[in-house]
Amino acid sequence: MTISPRPPSIPAYLGLEPKKLFIGGEWVAPLSAKTFPSVNPSTGAIIANLADAGADDVDRAVRAARQALEGPWAAFKPHQRQNVLLRLAELLEEHYAELSLLATHDMGTPVSRSARQKHRIVETLRYNAGWATKIYGDTIENSAPGEFFSYTLKEPIGVVGAITPWNGPLVSPLEKIGPALAAGCTIILKPSEHASIPALRLAEIMEALDLPPGVFNVITGAGEAGGALAAHLDVDKISFTGSHVTGQKIVEASAGNMKQLAMELGGKSPDIVFADADFERAVPGAAMGVLGNTGQMCMAGSRLFVHDSIYDDFVAAVAEFASGLKVGSGLDLSTDLGPVVSERQLDRVLGYVRSGQAEGANMVLEGGRLDSGELAHGFFISPTVFSEVADEMTIAREEIFGPVISALRFHDTDEVIRRANASEFGLGAGVWTTNVSTAHQMARALRSGSVWVNCYAVGDASVPFGGYKLSGYGKEKGIEGLNEYLTTKTVWIRTD
Ligand code: NAD
Repeated sequence: MTISPRPPSIPAYLGLEPKKLFIGGEWVAPLSAKTFPSVNPSTGAIIANLADAGADDVDRAVRAARQALEGPWAAFKPHQRQNVLLRLAELLEEHYAELSLLATHDMGTPVSRSARQKHRIVETLRYNAGWATKIYGDTIENSAPGEFFSYTLKEPIGVVGAITPWNGPLVSPLEKIGPALAAGCTIILKPSEHASIPALRLAEIMEALDLPPGVFNVITGAGEAGGALAAHLDVDKISFTGSHVTGQKIVEASAGNMKQLAMELGGKSPDIVFADADFERAVPGAAMGVLGNTGQMCMAGSRLFVHDSIYDDFVAAVAEFASGLKVGSGLDLSTDLGPVVSERQLDRVLGYVRSGQAEGANMVLEGGRLDSGELAHGFFISPTVFSEVADEMTIAREEIFGPVISALRFHDTDEVIRRANASEFGLGAGVWTTNVSTAHQMARALRSGSVWVNCYAVGDASVPFGGYKLSGYGKEKGIEGLNEYLTTKTVWIRTD
């Protein structure tokens, strides 16, 4: 690792002065007195030193969040919470260019990709602002003997621990902040140790909202901080996005107070191309369904099933498309794929490429580390396309989280349904066909939280997203996403 001098284009927010934690409306040094470096994956340079929160810091944040929940934040009327979110949407629009630049420095994603996500992120806040004034329970006719009036109240679930991964450093926190604030919860955000800088800057920007201290807190750190939050007895809910392995640890840690959980985990999603697919659309659609964000997408359609009759041509076209993508610094507007997030992730992906070769898959496009010229110190990797991948190969079963496509051959619909569903994951699935019956049949048959037909990875604030099986439970987005932050209280009143 090298420590680089700051070139002029680096946002002013970066620097080696240790960053603090945002707790109870104040920037505080960690009680742990520990820090850790944040590395720019395009250059290998340390760009910031972040506070490494320990259990005491987490406890302090939880106490602040509890005080706000039971104090001034509880007095906010729905329209005030709505206004908070509308104002936050404005602030985000104003500061989006800076935040996305920080994300590029911090975890590598191209600024061009962030620019395409701006609408989605800002509208997530406006969408949830709308819900803040539309939360209501039910009046329920009952048949209990006697005279009773029964109704339900929708209440904020309470103090929420939001634990997020690196691959969506703005999307992931904001998809939790929006519904949590709409519902009247307080939040402790624990972003990924590989992508904390945008979250810290967001907290600074959010100071302009004048929220009661403790409504929104950010603690940085890695597994220890996340684990302490998951285990804390005064946290009511963990909204987690990350790997299933960490998710399983959180489930165990949460048992102490039976806290509620929403789990957005990983996947090994099938993307199925039928013989009647629109070839021209399906090739880039299926390729970017894996390679987008350099393969660091939870829903990546990384098991690419292609019908036998078009298999060779389709896979060749996907490989040609992939070979034309520009890999480079995310600051370059012509870059399609930035680096992967860390050296560890790079080694992991290269390990999967080796395993594909060792287990007998055919390498149609050979990807590998790019380490010459400007890319010398970064974690850049070009796309790999494997054909003749068998279901039992490691690259067909495990989440790679890198730019590696595994193409599998299929012959008929029942067979591909069975094989697509034979995964421990169930996050997304894609279907490319011009036959409307096939589209509907597949949409019902695939066991995954989302099915995209003739498109891939489309999302919107109003449409729920979540996993089946090892890909988790609970939903984000839509009214189901809001309901994750609400709880139902039943009231009985004797009226005779
Ligand atoms: P990760 O599980 O390693 O880390 C996620 C977060 O959990 C980080 O903030 C990390 O510090 C924290 N953490 C680590 N150990 C913890 C513990 N013991 N207790 C509590 N928190 C802990 O995941 P990642 O590598 O950052 O992200 C990649 C994974 O996220 C992939 O599996 C990807 O599929 C998944 N993901 C899922 C979705 C979705 O919506 N389903 C979206 C994005 C990413």
